[in-house]
Amino acid sequence: MNAHSIVTHSPEETIALGYELARELKPPVLVLLLGDLGAGKTTLAKGLVAGLGAAPEEEVTSPTFTMIHEYGPRPPSAQATGRDSALRVYHVDLYRVETARELETLGLEDLLAERAVVIVEWGEKLGSALRASPRGGPGGVIEIHLEAAGESERRIEIRA
Ligand code: ADP
Ligand code: MG
Repeated sequence: MNAHSIVTHSPEETIALGYELARELKPPVLVLLLGDLGAGKTTLAKGLVAGLGAAPEEEVTSPTFTMIHEYGPRPPSAQATGRDSALRVYHVDLYRVETARELETLGLEDLLAERAVVIVEWGEKLGSALRASPRGGPGGVIEIHLEAAGESERRIEIRA
């Protein structure tokens, strides 16, 4: 396992980190964002989604109520044209998920079975089986731990 840790000093720096990390993501991949409320998970997700070219930053908002936001092209079956090289990104927030059954209903494994990047806030809530080895091909899992280290400092540790 490869881990490194950095401190950002503003939301803009955290977004910029998201752009940088996005360049290294090879789908299918599960990106778990772990950390408390206000740690910067949604802020980092903005940079990740925008950096992947799936949506502009300002369109990336917290999927707290809908649980899943979808960005980028539709899956092939629903696509009008064959742009299957474009990236599909799912942004999931498990904050409100309370039971294993609710988690199942979300169908995260199906999302991973697509050639997609799946970003999960409150990744702590995922079962250890899914965290350790998502089905759906040779995808990887990246864990990103975020933690407030001051009013506008955030310590961000990436474990791939
Ligand atoms: P989460 O999704 O983890 O609950 P958000 O990204 O929604 O967190 O919120 C993070 C909050 O912290 C925002 O209000 C943001 O402006 C603020 N903030 C301050 N400094 C930073 C930083 N370095 N990185 C990210 N967010 C920061
Ligand atoms: Mg959030």
